[in-house]
Amino acid sequence: TERTFSILKPDATKRNITGAVNAVIEKAALRIVGQRRIQMSRAQAETFYEIHKERPFFGELVTFMTSGPVVVQVLEGENAVARYREVMGATNPAQAAEGTIRKTFSESVGENTVHGSDSAENAKIEIAQFFEDGDIV
Ligand code: ATP
Ligand code: MG
Repeated sequence: TERTFSILKPDATKRNITGAVNAVIEKAALRIVGQRRIQMSRAQAETFYEIHKERPFFGELVTFMTSGPVVVQVLEGENAVARYREVMGATNPAQAAEGTIRKTFSESVGENTVHGSDSAENAKIEIAQFFEDGDIV
């Protein structure tokens, strides 16, 4: 069993579809073992997406991620990192497979509803940015 870090992005809270997204997550046999709704600060978003800071969309990304509340989550299950990436679908919803979260719910590549860690190593780093050990049960 493995853990991954997930964010339900501001387009999900704004449209009141966090429960619908969680239903897809749970149907995929991923357990939500940590969950908190927060307003990300600019500094938090910039640190979280540091790897993209030279990309042309970085400013837009940080502005979007701080535009409203997000739900940060720890998901647990077999091959959770890869499994969740599969369930999320491609970054660009237009290219996402049928039945994926992004295909079902997302309107654009910028506002694509969910984040999921891209490796087990990054999952650990990202979880530690938002959760204390005692808040994951
Ligand atoms: P995430 O890291 O959010 O799980 P991802 O791993 O599928 O998504 P990345 O390449 O890591 O995609 O990009 C991080 C985020 O930056 C994307 O989820 C998207 O919100 C935003 N992004 C990526 N490419 C673009 C783009 N061309 N224009 C606008 N925003 C983009
Ligand atoms: Mg990514």
